[in-house]
Amino acid sequence: MRQDQEDPYQRRSAQVYAAADRAGSGSVASPRAVLYDAVLLDRDGTLIEDVPYNGDPEKVRPVPGARAALDHLRAAGLRLAVVTNQSGLARGYFTGEQMRAVHARVEELLGRFDAWLVCPHDDADGCDCRKPAPGLVYAAARELGTTASRCVLVGDIGRDVAAALAAGAAGVLVPTPVTRPEEIAAAGWVATDLPAAVAEILRRQQAVQPSAPPTEPVRTALVVRSDSAGDVLVTGPAIRAVAAGAERVVLLCGPRGRAAANLLPGVDEIIEHPLPWIDPAPGPVDPQSMRSLTARLGALGADQAVVFTSFHQSALPLALLLRMAGIGRIAAISDDYPGSLLDIRHRVPVGVPEPERALSLAAAAGHRLADGDEPVLRLRRDAVPPRPADLGDPGYVVLHPGSAASSRACPPELATRIVGALTDAGHRVLVTGGPDERAVTARVAAAGGTDLGGRTDLAGLAAIVADAGAVVVGNTGPAHLAAAAGVPVVSLFAPTVPFGQWGPYRVPTVRLGDAAAPCRDTRAASCPVPGHPCLSGVDPDEVVAALRTLAPSGGGGR
Ligand SMILES: [Zn+2]
Repeated sequence: MRQDQEDPYQRRSAQVYAAADRAGSGSVASPRAVLYDAVLLDRDGTLIEDVPYNGDPEKVRPVPGARAALDHLRAAGLRLAVVTNQSGLARGYFTGEQMRAVHARVEELLGRFDAWLVCPHDDADGCDCRKPAPGLVYAAARELGTTASRCVLVGDIGRDVAAALAAGAAGVLVPTPVTRPEEIAAAGWVATDLPAAVAEILRRQQAVQPSAPPTEPVRTALVVRSDSAGDVLVTGPAIRAVAAGAERVVLLCGPRGRAAANLLPGVDEIIEHPLPWIDPAPGPVDPQSMRSLTARLGALGADQAVVFTSFHQSALPLALLLRMAGIGRIAAISDDYPGSLLDIRHRVPVGVPEPERALSLAAAAGHRLADGDEPVLRLRRDAVPPRPADLGDPGYVVLHPGSAASSRACPPELATRIVGALTDAGHRVLVTGGPDERAVTARVAAAGGTDLGGRTDLAGLAAIVADAGAVVVGNTGPAHLAAAAGVPVVSLFAPTVPFGQWGPYRVPTVRLGDAAAPCRDTRAASCPVPGHPCLSGVDPDEVVAALRTLAPSGGGGR
């Protein structure tokens, strides 16, 4: 899935104007597992001051600090492209020749770009390249010899970020006075200005590369991720990084994460044991249970432990048990003072995607992904069963309305209307859910979908998701299964936790829902606001349109 997902626009990108003399620069994709090969920059309002429909080189004014910021990127080996909507061409406000003169002036002031990608169309043209469509991002990645998921786009409005996400690239919003508040709320990554965006891109890139390998060889590494399926899945890249540097990896997980743990590459052995203090509804800490866990961990003879946590969890209670188990080298993220409980105390700014946050901890512990591996979610092929034959051809839409946390679930009434709208648009819809969600899936599927509620475990769901054209889902485990399979996601994302940390990672995504709703950043497990307004206002037609954006060739099960 992942390979053909990278460029569904190949046939349709003839409309994209690239700098002809610089085309075909060949592959630069690094065999090393870096986050980014290239930075894509919006032009007006991002690189230069926005002068509407400017055809005059004399009016080009770079934003403050632009030249130095771009030179930092160039010095770090990143390729640069400009991706810009210029509907003034379609409207006849300036000529192609005038535009090229403007671009020459931009390069005079800001240095050379490796590619220029221009959409000359207007909204009414319905092209695939005008942002927020992802066509320019795919085209830029191709020009630069890399893939969209290894690009980060910097822009000043919501269209820029949406185009990046729809191609599976990262998107940084650098707001200006014209950026709308809802665009700022919806963006997963916001920087105050271009130099700040560049500094954070370079910091994130650096943070997943260890400054030194582990001081001593690691025979057995214990890795820990003790919460739910989604948490375990997003830690997968970091666990693979540890596995690349250790002879044997033992994963300690909780009961809610066990099914996901079974799916992760790089894990040699799993220990399932609840850590009650991690749970949102924590049970009591049983001394006998903790003694038996400590004894079991001690018997592993691990040379190193890497404790992965969410930003609101503490690694320190477990670190104490690991010390009591005799484990000598312990690494974890901790803002709290760890005293002698950690050998490597790592810290991460807020807003970093969970997979990168975990990768940066693995790097602090001396590990990085093997050459040829990518910082993307992956599943073990041998752990995913064949898809049931009775589901028909691939390309259907999976709608997964539920979530373990009801605050992050799609309201059933909305899910029902979405099924109706998708069916009317010609999509085949499979409605999935766990055994305890059967009543909801039956009700939702009655609007025209196939009810698979309770029919699959997590591995079986992964198999169904892998053959989908797209998945429509809230912020919950199946979104990460889709990311692992490279299947595009329409994310009905309740803003209870930051989208930038928990949104589908490195997979084409359209985010829907009210990002500024009052539940924002509450981490509430059940919606604190009557009517679940962050999601209930989604129009089913937005979902249909999102599928068109993500699969413009009409994939989606027609
Ligand atoms: Zn266009």
